[in-house]
Amino acid sequence: MLTRFVDTIRQRFSRPLQYYQDICVRCGACIDACHFYVVSGDPAHIPAYRMTLAKKVMQGRVSDGNRLHNWYREAWGQESRTAAELERAMWECTGCRRCAVFCPFALDTALLVSAGRYSLLQEGIGPQMIAEIGNAEVSKGEIIEMIQEFYVDQTKELEARLQKEFAPDLRIPVEKEGARVLYVPLVGEHAIVPLAKVFHAAQEDWTLSLFTATNHSFFVGDMDKARQAAHWIVQEARRLGVKAIAYPECGHATRTLLSFFESWFGDEIAGIERISVVQLVASYLAEGRIRVKSGTFDVPLTYHDPCNLGRNSGIFEEPRALLRAVATDFRELTPNRELNWCCGGGGGLIAAPEMKEIRMKAGRPKAEQIRQTGAQWVVTTCENCKTQLGDLNEHYGLGIEIKGLVDLVAEALAL
Ligand code: SF4
Ligand code: SF4
Repeated sequence: MLTRFVDTIRQRFSRPLQYYQDICVRCGACIDACHFYVVSGDPAHIPAYRMTLAKKVMQGRVSDGNRLHNWYREAWGQESRTAAELERAMWECTGCRRCAVFCPFALDTALLVSAGRYSLLQEGIGPQMIAEIGNAEVSKGEIIEMIQEFYVDQTKELEARLQKEFAPDLRIPVEKEGARVLYVPLVGEHAIVPLAKVFHAAQEDWTLSLFTATNHSFFVGDMDKARQAAHWIVQEARRLGVKAIAYPECGHATRTLLSFFESWFGDEIAGIERISVVQLVASYLAEGRIRVKSGTFDVPLTYHDPCNLGRNSGIFEEPRALLRAVATDFRELTPNRELNWCCGGGGGLIAAPEMKEIRMKAGRPKAEQIRQTGAQWVVTTCENCKTQLGDLNEHYGLGIEIKGLVDLVAEALAL
């Protein structure tokens, strides 16, 4: 039973995972840190138990070589119960790493979940759709020449529109050799328009990537494919000779850029700065390269720290500096920064329609946090968080609006 899972996870069991398995002292400090467990009370959602369960299956304690024992277990449905529990333990987790903050040894459940998801997918357990989107991101590099012309034409149309609406000399350069910054967007013009305005105001020497920053293979723990998808961007950066790669408001993508590119690409990425647009735009403001009309937004608003930008990348103060520059009534969520509750939409769960019900349950602590602030707007810097917060707004009747931080800065620009 679960033989492909066991074979695969054994191969992927790294030294840090071994360390986790060996030194967890079952102190229980992580239990109430997990928003899934807080709302469900399901032991499969306890961070330390996720590891215990994986260990039990790996060590074959669920099934053994004795055919009679196994027949009894099968007859009583133990195997399918264990598989279902393992599925909840590995897939009903957003990889937010809040549990690691509470653990005295900083044991990282997200690391286990990454290996566990990939191994479960070898058994056909879990949302295959996320893996398929990841495969499409890997193959995009192979067909980029076929779609490049269409993409450049679309960008020209967008540029012409923004020249009419915003500034006649605004440019959206694509494939510009020697530009300082390569901006890698998300799918959709909403991830290009505000940045094009801010880059214009800051007189940045930039160019738009042919690729997008999202990396669904990362969600399913397929690190070979995650690296392949990101490699197209590194090759593009080197071909164009840029000095920096800037990633959009996207949590998991930013985490790959800031925490994984160095180990994935080594010397190939040396000398190329890696930065989130949140950091970049905050640096423009701090250096006086852009000016904003202070107090542009006179509504009570709060900021949701996306786990992958905040807790997992340390980007806490830059969004707050930008918000304070454009808003009159900024209210903190409690708790915030590294202790912030995950919204429940990370870890690829947004991309799997079958996860909607558990997403809404897991988002309850976040919904309660928001309600307590009395804020009318919730500002954030991650695409998945925006979608999840929008769904939570409907589900819990919060009566709020969800805003992107760079959108607000672009709207408040003083040219
Ligand atoms: S990473 Fe987040 S969702 Fe996963 S077990 Fe830890 S606290 Fe729960
Ligand atoms: S807090 Fe750390 S050591 Fe304690 S039970 Fe959780 S994972 Fe184990």
